[in-house]
Amino acid sequence: MRWLLLAVLVAVLGLALGVQRGWLELPPRWDPRTPLEVRAPPDWLSGWRLWRLRRDPALCAQVLASSQLDYVSQPDSRLDSDCPLRNVVRVRAGHAAFSASFLATCPLAVSYALFEHHDLQPLAREILGQSVVRVEHFGSFACRRIGGSQRWSRHASADALDVGAFRLADGRSVNVAGHWRSEGTEARFLRAVRDAACQHFQAVLGPEYDTAHQDHFHLEVGGFGVCR
Ligand SMILES: [Zn+2]
Repeated sequence: MRWLLLAVLVAVLGLALGVQRGWLELPPRWDPRTPLEVRAPPDWLSGWRLWRLRRDPALCAQVLASSQLDYVSQPDSRLDSDCPLRNVVRVRAGHAAFSASFLATCPLAVSYALFEHHDLQPLAREILGQSVVRVEHFGSFACRRIGGSQRWSRHASADALDVGAFRLADGRSVNVAGHWRSEGTEARFLRAVRDAACQHFQAVLGPEYDTAHQDHFHLEVGGFGVCR
């Protein structure tokens, strides 16, 4: 058993070295160096590609440019401000419009693009029979600390977005405050959205988390893996 493990380890390391040195040619989809494609179906390398772009602003910008989002890049803010912003864009729309444009770090914008394209819209069509045309949010950037603590909120670096409701093509609104604890398709949709969001954001906090999140989903990147 030990020899088998050793042989597998040597094979994996040899493969990695071969790819890194350019001795081996992998198809782009199997090559870990290929940038993430937002609209391509997620696969076993998606997590690695997401991890890479969160650490590489130029790579993140390249990936975001290929997404469905309408956005404008923003200049970095002054370093001496309490909450300096780096690598930030103003997101204006996705497949669905927003109640207002918002500031987001590039990694947050990429996570949102993945979430909307692969889960939010497909779940709305599957469970509610129509698309989401407008996402109502409570904001992203806010220079503040986490309530009752000294730690800065992920909102202080524009790494988090609070989403409260989804307006559908027929004008109906599905909202966290009113539908999370209800019975029926709206609640089923919201629960499916929360679960799916956990695959694209590093933390998702909703009504099950605490009383501060009764009316919205807090979606963040760069934090801990919480999904409630
Ligand atoms: Zn929040």
